[in-house]
Amino acid sequence: MQVNILFPINAEAFTYSVPEGLEEKIKPGMRVLAPFRRGKKVGIVVGMDNSVGARRGLALNDGTDHRVAPSEKEITLKPLEEVLDDEPLIPENLLKLIKWVGEYYMSTSGLALKNAVPAGIFEGKKGGKGRIVYDEKVVPATAVNLTWEQQTALSEINKAEAGAFLLHGVTGSGKTEIYIRAIEASGDKEAIVLVPEIALTTQIIDRFRSRFHDRVAFFHSGLSPGERLTQWRKIRDGKVRIALGVRSAVFAPFKNPGLIIIDEEHEASYKQFEGLKYSARDVALARAKIEGIKIILGSATPSIETYYHAGKGKLAFLELTHRIERKPMPRVEIIDMTRAEKGSPAYSKKLLGVLRENLSAGRQSLIMLNRRGYSPFLMCVDCGYTYKCPACSITLTYHKDTKTLKCHYCNSFLKPQDVCPQCKGINIKFIGLGTQRAEEELGVLLPELSLKRMDRDTTRKKLAHYRIVKDMEDRKIDVLLGTQMVARGHDFPDVTVAAVVFADVALNLPDFRSSERTFQLFTQLAGRAGRGDMHGEVYIQTYEPGHYVFDYVLNHDYAGFYRKEIELRKELSYPPFSRLIRIVFSFRNKEDAVKIMKDVSKKIQDSRFKIQDSNIEILGPSPAPVEKIRNYWRWHLVLKGKNAKALRQAASRILELIKDIGSIKSDIDVDPINML
Ligand code: ADP
Ligand code: ZN
Repeated sequence: MQVNILFPINAEAFTYSVPEGLEEKIKPGMRVLAPFRRGKKVGIVVGMDNSVGARRGLALNDGTDHRVAPSEKEITLKPLEEVLDDEPLIPENLLKLIKWVGEYYMSTSGLALKNAVPAGIFEGKKGGKGRIVYDEKVVPATAVNLTWEQQTALSEINKAEAGAFLLHGVTGSGKTEIYIRAIEASGDKEAIVLVPEIALTTQIIDRFRSRFHDRVAFFHSGLSPGERLTQWRKIRDGKVRIALGVRSAVFAPFKNPGLIIIDEEHEASYKQFEGLKYSARDVALARAKIEGIKIILGSATPSIETYYHAGKGKLAFLELTHRIERKPMPRVEIIDMTRAEKGSPAYSKKLLGVLRENLSAGRQSLIMLNRRGYSPFLMCVDCGYTYKCPACSITLTYHKDTKTLKCHYCNSFLKPQDVCPQCKGINIKFIGLGTQRAEEELGVLLPELSLKRMDRDTTRKKLAHYRIVKDMEDRKIDVLLGTQMVARGHDFPDVTVAAVVFADVALNLPDFRSSERTFQLFTQLAGRAGRGDMHGEVYIQTYEPGHYVFDYVLNHDYAGFYRKEIELRKELSYPPFSRLIRIVFSFRNKEDAVKIMKDVSKKIQDSRFKIQDSNIEILGPSPAPVEKIRNYWRWHLVLKGKNAKALRQAASRILELIKDIGSIKSDIDVDPINML
């Protein structure tokens, strides 16, 4: 008897023989101990026959290419040593999902397994103590009567056996309440709830705890490996009914799930940017299909793709058009910074007046500037010199707290000198704004404010984010200033003013999604204002007030924005009218890169007749917008086409082509979000 064993490494399954005595016991989904290279490894049984494509347990090469055909030579299979479980540990459908992920993202099942299951499972580790400290005194849930719109949406969900829903509800329309009721209505079945990265989850966690008490397991990025293992075990052993968490919660090992919920489905953080570049939202859609269950995608600003698919009937539309209690949407005002009178480099007098007034009325404000650090560069005014990262083609951001220049790509830093390294001049100026500088200016201008900054630098420590949110709730903060973190999901009833300091940061990035992102971000920020009894107001400072995005932000007009954006996408044949695969090539040496990429380009053209058959367009290879990161010169190539399978085939053909040229480091991204 032979079995295929999958290890949490970047490879497909390996085949082993099963010693007598273990044959009766062994089943798919169980862990086994098997000899691997010179040592032993724990893996998962994924197949009980000798299926084609699996590799011999003896094979010494555990490289990354799973397309290699198994050797024809009959090799005696190595026997496995031990079966570690009495019953399958990984549910069958989860194994199917893992396989799907490996194939769809042009990676391997092994890497998918590594992403899906905590490392401790393969190390025989015991779980850590659950020291997830959240609010001890969970506020008991108050029963609310659903609004008519909520009821309608919920009954549509409850009626269905399976299928995907888009819950498009304006900010503050009570989407979370629908999630909770839909879970309550799903009886004994388990539920997976995905929320975006960053611990904004704190508020949602409290809400879930007050409704479901200890029947919820939490997954977030702050868990230690031991804690993660404990949560995973709780789910696996049926001790909880709900898994609430970021990305990896999509792989929660439930045996009988009935419902998956994706809150803020448009969030870019559902996509993993390192290693296996999966989108948790898309994996969730695949899982719902495999399990034959319901899935709800919720958002006030759905991604253009999702909204389009809903229009085509792939998801059922559910709409909440009003805020709870018919609270009005906040009034939005654009402040033209090319003309506005300024109180400081960052603030118009107008905005300062508004903030001052809001303070004296005893209300809270949010301020967003989507760039951390003090200023995005230091420049010598005499010769124009700016500090660049020695390893990346990026200017260094000055951080005042540490008095260093930091690279936001590779995290390296250096101390600036008093004189210009180029001309020895002494007129060195801070150019541009970051959150630290906006905080400093405001502190000087309105010293009576209790001001807090929230960005990646102030929330590095465990629970730091949670404390800021709590202080905001407890009214210890008047103004919360930060990066996009301040725009996320919060429900602070006393926030009546939300402002953007410098809207232009994100408007013109070389990415076809930059307008969409900007619209979403501003609409989400606006959604934080006026959620309580008082009217909300939103102020957006910009040097480009004529940009079309603002027309729609002003009127909270998602549908209008969608109509405009979908036309542009259609014209350029970008998603949802096509699919993309991006390949990034990295080189140690700039000249080599040019030479080799030219060669690659030629080869692709030679073989093009094949690729054109399947209607695939190849853009590039060309230098990536960020040309160098960590001392690697980057080139990229984007494949565009309608058929996912044909696109993947074309991509793997290109990868094979490249293999002939020599060892080029290449990285593949299916459905890329980041094009930089
Ligand atoms: P969204 O997720 O759509 O932004 P929330 O679910 O956070 O909105 O709801 C906004 C606020 O309204 C929350 O404080 C929530 O507790 C409250 N809420 C939700 N549904 C109702 C209801 N039917 N009646 C009264 N309050 C509600
Ligand atoms: Zn760098």
